Amino acid sequence: MPEANLVLNNVSQVLTMAGDGLGIVEHGAVRVRDGRIHEVAKGNLEPRPGETEIDCCGRVVLPGFVDPHTHLVFGGWRQNEFEMRLAGRTYKEIAEAGGGILSTVIHTRLATEDELYNRALERLHEMVSWGTTTVEVKSGYGLDTGTELRMLRVARRLGELGFCRVVPTFLGAHSVPKKWDKSVYIKLVVEEMLPAVAEQGIALFCDVFCENFVFNAAESTAILEAGKQHGLIPTVHADEIESSGGAELAAKVGAASASHLLQPSDAGLAAMAQAGVVAVLLPGTCFFLREAHRSPVAKMREAGIVTAVATDFNPGSCPMLAQPIAAQFGCIHYGMTIEEALRGITVNAARALRLDSRVGTLEPGKAADIVITDVPDYRHIIYRLGHNPVFMTIRDGRVVHRQV
Ligand SMILES: [Zn+2]
Repeated sequence: MPEANLVLNNVSQVLTMAGDGLGIVEHGAVRVRDGRIHEVAKGNLEPRPGETEIDCCGRVVLPGFVDPHTHLVFGGWRQNEFEMRLAGRTYKEIAEAGGGILSTVIHTRLATEDELYNRALERLHEMVSWGTTTVEVKSGYGLDTGTELRMLRVARRLGELGFCRVVPTFLGAHSVPKKWDKSVYIKLVVEEMLPAVAEQGIALFCDVFCENFVFNAAESTAILEAGKQHGLIPTVHADEIESSGGAELAAKVGAASASHLLQPSDAGLAAMAQAGVVAVLLPGTCFFLREAHRSPVAKMREAGIVTAVATDFNPGSCPMLAQPIAAQFGCIHYGMTIEEALRGITVNAARALRLDSRVGTLEPGKAADIVITDVPDYRHIIYRLGHNPVFMTIRDGRVVHRQV
């Protein structure tokens, strides 16, 4: 395929995300050469031979969105459970009654690889239509070696299509399968699943659902350390349902990120700041589950923790896959500033995935992953609740979605 050379002119605001803020260039332009950002300038740029000019009609341009926490691949939705929750049943009660993650496990195991692939592909197209150009995808609905590997193969195939970057994460320790003794299952994860995942080279990260009633901090540490032995970067579902030492263990094992964090301890937050662990906030989940606690954004800000925002897209606790809406919840439900939320779905999300040297900002040399919006001012991206602001999604300099 020929390399993509573009000039984006007539942009009201280019949000480069360079440095600490939004890196705004008013009345700017962007030149893309060979699929990478070549320059961001003030005023319009003269197109050179071989370059395609796009008139952005006085709208905002910013980096393609990075979604650093999703469960994109799964079989079956869970609308029944949603209805139960509306009737007052809690997450924990539903899980203990055999619902929750384990019901998705049943449907995922029954699905063929192509069925999982086709369903996930539809959802991925929808994500891209909302501006996502990089997405992390977890396994974790197999809880047996064959299905976990099948989910990761689906993630790899989706990435190979080339319209969205896919970062695969092994989450064998998402739950304990029915009728299994937990210690026996952990042994399976460590001694069979992790070596198989490593041998096939189909995951970059190892994740674990750390909660006192799922995998406690000691068990989670053992799994993540084993993952490290196989070259997988640790990340953790931490302190969501109750304070379980998740933030502390994320710091201890050198995790790239810790997600949820509705009830982290002060010591845990201090340890995360010290260790440079990115907090991946999932405000859509918190809102959807009507959870009593919310991530302590002010404390995180004060501690100097880098905060990213993700959808946590999954069939149970957040069937919402749009990063602009996750950012809106970040502001309205969690109290983030507009700047924090927009950095949260771009540069900081890239950092959570350790991809910040390649994506997340519009700086020379970075991949030309770009969103052209239909809004004249960047604050509209948050302010216009529920509006899809994406006019065009560009990945590596190629148009992968256009509003119709
Ligand atoms: Zn999750």
